[in-house]
Amino acid sequence: MPSDGGHGGRRAPVVGIIGSGRSGSTLLEFLLAGHLADARSLGELETLVVRGPRDDEPCTCGLPASECPQWEDVIRRLAAHPLRQHWDTGVEDHRYRLRWGTALYARAVRRRVVGRLRADERGSWPSGYAPFYVPVLDVLAELSVRPAVLIDNSKTPMHFFALAAVGVSDLCVIHLIRRPEAVVWSWRQRKPLPESGSKNWFLELKSPLRSCREWLFDNLLAASLPKIYPNIPYVRISYEDLCRKPEEALARCVGVLSLNTGHMPERRTGYHSIGGNPARFTGFQSIEVDDAWRTNLRWPVRFMLLMIAVPVYRLLLRKRRTA
Ligand SMILES: [Zn+2]
Repeated sequence: MPSDGGHGGRRAPVVGIIGSGRSGSTLLEFLLAGHLADARSLGELETLVVRGPRDDEPCTCGLPASECPQWEDVIRRLAAHPLRQHWDTGVEDHRYRLRWGTALYARAVRRRVVGRLRADERGSWPSGYAPFYVPVLDVLAELSVRPAVLIDNSKTPMHFFALAAVGVSDLCVIHLIRRPEAVVWSWRQRKPLPESGSKNWFLELKSPLRSCREWLFDNLLAASLPKIYPNIPYVRISYEDLCRKPEEALARCVGVLSLNTGHMPERRTGYHSIGGNPARFTGFQSIEVDDAWRTNLRWPVRFMLLMIAVPVYRLLLRKRRTA
């Protein structure tokens, strides 16, 4: 049921997909969109907000965002929103994000550990763009046609810390985690961006060291969310389980997060998504684990990951199983 988030409007509950990039979140979003009752998939919310109105990127249905029947109203509203310029800065300036995110995180930890905030912190946010999230969600909720749930595939842990910090009620998260070797290998692949059209853009390539560092940062931060915000329903699943037994993995998410299901996972419904992995354009005819890294990833890189990231991967999944 839509609920009053306390920010001037009724808003549907949000199911967030949190974790590191290239972890199979597009597949999870696609399956959830078909599986949950009256779900509306937002893709990467930040991409939708910034690039949707600015670049008019195509939706998965093939139409430009401004002509897609599901998104045209939203895009028009977002383009004219008075806070638009702030979103550009807040979402695309990485140094600004990091500075603001660190302040937000430190404050959340302090509140959790000490149990209260300093007097000067009450009622205010670390200088930054947290309040801009609220009108974004309000605009989307207002234009949604009675959605039971919104799926936000932003992944970035700081994004969900921001939603939690601004008091978005009815937020729950699925932490999707994939083997670090597979993620590092994926970031070495040159993937075209279909939405760039004749510009022929490609997804950015990342060095093994950088993608390993980001994998650790994102997953450890995501794993700390339920410790800092214990009231936010949280479930952790692995990409490998999702591919091998999608029904089981979805049932686990639905059960832990108390979501309502609609269709069977395989049944495809109208899927309109802006922003995210190019895989969203082709759909997922068959679901299988992509483990090309096993034959392609160089041994020195594997060794580095075995020493640094693989133990964390195992620990996070072991903790999940014993939880
Ligand atoms: Zn569309």
